[in-house]
Amino acid sequence: MTKLLLSGALTTVAAFAQLGADPLTPMREGLDRKEAVKITDNIYQAVGFGNTFLVVTPAGNVIIDTSNALSANLHVKLLKARNAGPVKYIILTHGHGDHTGGVALWKEPGTGVIAQKNQVEFLNYQERLNRFFALRNSAQFVFPRPAEMAWPGDEGAKQLATILFDDKYEFTLGGVKFEVFSTPGETPDHLSVWIPQWRAAFTGDNFYASFPNIYTLRGTEPRMALDYVHSLRS
Ligand SMILES: [Zn+2]
Repeated sequence: MTKLLLSGALTTVAAFAQLGADPLTPMREGLDRKEAVKITDNIYQAVGFGNTFLVVTPAGNVIIDTSNALSANLHVKLLKARNAGPVKYIILTHGHGDHTGGVALWKEPGTGVIAQKNQVEFLNYQERLNRFFALRNSAQFVFPRPAEMAWPGDEGAKQLATILFDDKYEFTLGGVKFEVFSTPGETPDHLSVWIPQWRAAFTGDNFYASFPNIYTLRGTEPRMALDYVHSLRS
């Protein structure tokens, strides 16, 4: 069986190449889509700056990443049109905003939200430096220049996960086994999902159509090249 490689980002470089006068242009990727992409009978993809994946099992659904806040409503609509079953788990490949923007829209009473344990500090780190990153993001992503904002304090981030793990987390839903691995690279909290019976790998932002963004223009902490190497090999 062919191995499915499902990336969290689609065309990062292309999106930046298309920058025009419209603010938020990169974040608008996929907003013109009318339906979700059927990858297999059980896996669907809503395309965007931050893809959302729906995995259907007989006992309920699993959402892998939730896109950015601007795209999340559309992704929910397009994927629920494919299958509106209960959402048993949301898996966040990492804590970047283009993967976490729709958690609140998908989460139901009892939905487990799975993240690697470094996500707690990573979300705090992003929040702690939010004012700094906001200015740099406005230049990098052509966002409107932000207004002054209050500093949230050392650990001001809203946490999302209800299930945190260290190296590996496994669960079976509706007879489908999900293996979730810590794969640092894009971020220290990055994880990858492997569904053995369908040979489907969800690689988040560790693998996309671009050389890894080892040092971001906005000045986030450097991303360790050997982390990528180890994670991509494993
Ligand atoms: Zn990312």
